[in-house]
Amino acid sequence: MAEKKRILIVGGGYGGVWAGKKLEKHFRTRPDVEITLVDRRPYHTLMTELHEVAGWRTEPEAVQVSFRKIFGTKRINVVTDSIEKIDFEGKVATSARTTYPFDYIVLGTGAEPEFFGTPGVEENSFTLWSFEDAMKIRRHLEDCFAKAAMEPDPQVRRRLLTFVVAGAGFTGIEMVGELLEYRNIMCRKLHLDRSESRVVVVEALPNILPILEEPLRVKAEKYLKKHDCEMMIGTPIVGAEKGKVLLKDKPALLTETFIWTCGVRGSSFAGSLATPVGKRNRLEADAEMKSTKYPFAYIVGDNSGYLHEGKPVAQIVETAHFTAEAAAKNIIADIDGGERHVFKPNYHGVMVCIGSHYGVSNAGNMQTKGWFALFIKHFINMYYLFNIAGLNQVWEYFREEFLDIKDRRSFVGGFFSYKTRGYWPLLLRMWLGTMWLFEGINKIGEGWLKFSAGSKSGWMFSPGVVQAGVKAVADAGSAASAATAATQAVDAASAASAAVAAAPQAVDAASAASAAVSAAPAATDAASAASAAVAGAADQAVNTAKDAFHAVWDLTKPIIDPNSGFATWFRHVFMDGIFAHINYPVMQVMVVVMEMGIGLALFGGFFTWWAAAASLAMCLLFTFNGMFMWSQAWFFFAGILMLGGAGRSFGLDCWSVPFFKRWWNGTRFARKWHFYTGEPTK
Ligand SMILES: Cc1cc2nc3c(=O)[nH]c(=O)nc-3n(C[C@H](O)[C@H](O)[C@H](O)COP(=O)(O)OP(=O)(O)OC[C@H]3O[C@@H](n4cnc5c(N)ncnc54)[C@H](O)[C@@H]3O)c2cc1C
Repeated sequence: MAEKKRILIVGGGYGGVWAGKKLEKHFRTRPDVEITLVDRRPYHTLMTELHEVAGWRTEPEAVQVSFRKIFGTKRINVVTDSIEKIDFEGKVATSARTTYPFDYIVLGTGAEPEFFGTPGVEENSFTLWSFEDAMKIRRHLEDCFAKAAMEPDPQVRRRLLTFVVAGAGFTGIEMVGELLEYRNIMCRKLHLDRSESRVVVVEALPNILPILEEPLRVKAEKYLKKHDCEMMIGTPIVGAEKGKVLLKDKPALLTETFIWTCGVRGSSFAGSLATPVGKRNRLEADAEMKSTKYPFAYIVGDNSGYLHEGKPVAQIVETAHFTAEAAAKNIIADIDGGERHVFKPNYHGVMVCIGSHYGVSNAGNMQTKGWFALFIKHFINMYYLFNIAGLNQVWEYFREEFLDIKDRRSFVGGFFSYKTRGYWPLLLRMWLGTMWLFEGINKIGEGWLKFSAGSKSGWMFSPGVVQAGVKAVADAGSAASAATAATQAVDAASAASAAVAAAPQAVDAASAASAAVSAAPAATDAASAASAAVAGAADQAVNTAKDAFHAVWDLTKPIIDPNSGFATWFRHVFMDGIFAHINYPVMQVMVVVMEMGIGLALFGGFFTWWAAAASLAMCLLFTFNGMFMWSQAWFFFAGILMLGGAGRSFGLDCWSVPFFKRWWNGTRFARKWHFYTGEPTK
C-alpha cells in the first residue's frame, strides 16, 4: 500500500473549514490519506456576527457551530488543541500536549487587532476579534449600565454611560449599531436618563465605511445620526489612558468603554512562524496559495499575504473561501496529480448591518438599504451555514435570529418571537387525545375489528363514505334483495287473482255499506287539506331559515365534497390501491390501533410531536376522502399547535424527549445528514 499522506489544517475558521470540507469530500474513500483539523476551540466561530453577541442581541451560542456539527461522520479528525510551533523542515507541528506530523499543512489561524503602536490603546481598550472578546464586551456593557443605575454622582454616571468605538469600518459600525439599540433598552429598563448617555464613533479618515460607495455611506451616516450616534470623523486617536481616549486637537473622551476596531493583522502565531512573513503578520504566498518558501505549506484566509494585482487580498470571508478553494485543489493535485489552481476572486459584495433594523449592502452590483439589505445578509449567512452544517444549522440560525430574539431586535420585530407557555395547550392536548381515543373505541363498537371485507370508512359522527370496493359488495347485496322482492311479488299476484274470482258475491253487500260511508270522505278531505296547509307553512318557514344559514357557510358540509372528482379519484385510486395491498382485517385493526395510540399519546403527552404529526396525516386522509367536515377543521389547528412541544410540560415528553434526542443525535444517520436536533452526542 502507498505511504499514508497526512494533511494537517491549523485553524477551523472560514478558511480552514472550507479547505477541510473540500479535502474530505475528495479523499473520503481513501485510506491512504489522513486529514486532521486542529483548532484551539471546539467550535467554528461566526466572526461576522460577533457584534450581535457583544451587544446582547443574540445569545453566545448563536455564533458557535461545533465541529461535531460540521464534520459529523466525515473522515476528518478534529482535535481541540492549540498549536504552538511548526517545524517546517521536519514537517511537524507541536502543541503543549502532543505533536502532529504532516506531509501538507494548511495555515488558517485568522487575525488579531492592529494597534499601530498607538500608546496606551492595547492596555485600555476592548477589541472584537474573537468569541472571548465579544463576551468581555457583553459582560462589561451590562456592568456599566448596572453601576450607572446605582451611581449618585452625575459625572461618574456619564462616564459609565459613554461608549466610544474607534474605527468606522464594517466591524466598528456594526458594533455601534448594536450599542445604540442596547443603550435604549437598558436606559428604559433601569430608568436611566438616556440624554446622559453617549455613543461615539471616532474615525481618522474623512468617511465612514470606506469600502462602500458614496450613496450608501451617506445613508448609513444619516441613519446613525438619526439614532443619536455622535460621529467624530477625521479625528485621529493619539492615545488612551485608563478611562480616557485621547484625540488629536480635541478634548479627551471620558469613558469606561473604549472599543478598538481600527485595524487588523495576521495572528501573532502566524507572525512567529519560520516561513516568510510579510507586512502585519501576513504570510507570503504565491497565486496557488503555497508559502513562498515551503511548497507543501498552504496559507488561507486572514493569514494570507498574497498580493493580487499588486495589492494584499482583503481580509474578509470570501477571501478565506477563495484561498481555501485554491489550497485544497492544489493539495489534491499534489497527491493525485492533475491541474493546478490559482486564486480566483469572484467577490459578491459587502453587507453592513447597523443594529437589527437597518443595513446597507452592495451585493451582486445591487445597492440596497434598510430591511432588504438585512434580508440579504441573513440569507447569505444561512446559505453559508447550509453549506457547512446543513439544514439543521440554518434552522438554529433562524431560531436564534428571529424566533428567540429578545426586545424585538430583528428586522421583523418581535413578530415571531413571543412564546406561549407549555401549560396553556394542556387541556386542548388532552381533549384532542380523548377524541382520537373514543374514535378508536367507537370503531370497535361498530364492529370494525370483525369486518372481513369492506366497511364504510366512517369518521367522527359522519355517516361515512362507501369505498369503491365496498360499493361492489353493497351493489351485490342490493341485487340479491331485488330478486327476493320479485319472487314475493309473483306470489302476491297469484293470491290476488284467486280473490278476484270470489269477488261478485261480495259486491252487493259492499254497495250498501259504501253508501253509508260515502258521506264521510268530504269531511275527511276538508280536515286533511287544512292540516296540510298548516304543515306546509311551517316547513316553508324552517326551510327559509335553513337556507338563509346555509347561504353563509354550512359547517356540516365536508371540506372536500365526497362526490367531487378529486375525492372519488382519491378513494378509488389511492385508497383502494392501498387496500389492494393490505389484508383488509389487518388494515381495520391498524386504523383502530393507530387512532387509539394517537389518543393515548396526546393525552399523556408522550411523543407528542409524532402523535400530532400522525393526527394531522390522518385528518388529511379523511379530508381527501370527503369525510372531514368544516366543523372538524379544529383537529388540524390543534394538531399544529401540538407540534410545538405541547407534551413537554405536564406530559411524559418532559423525560422522553431529552432521552430520545440524545439517542437520535448519536446515530450515524443523524450525523451524516446533519439531521440532529441540538448538539450531536458523538
Ligand atoms: C466583528 C467582525 C465582523 C466581521 N464582519 C465581516 C463581514 O461582514 N463580512 C466579511 O466578509 N468579513 C467580516 N469579518 C472578517 C472575517 O470574519 C474574517 O476575514 C474571517 O474570519 C477570516 O477567516 P479565517 O479562516 O482566516 O480566520 P478565522 O475565522 O478568524 O479563524 C481562525 C481560527 O483559527 C483558530 N486558531 C488560531 N490560532 C490557532 C492555533 N495556534 N492553534 C489552533 N487553532 C488556532 C481560531 O480558534 C479560529 O477558529 C468580520 C470580522 C469581525 C471580527
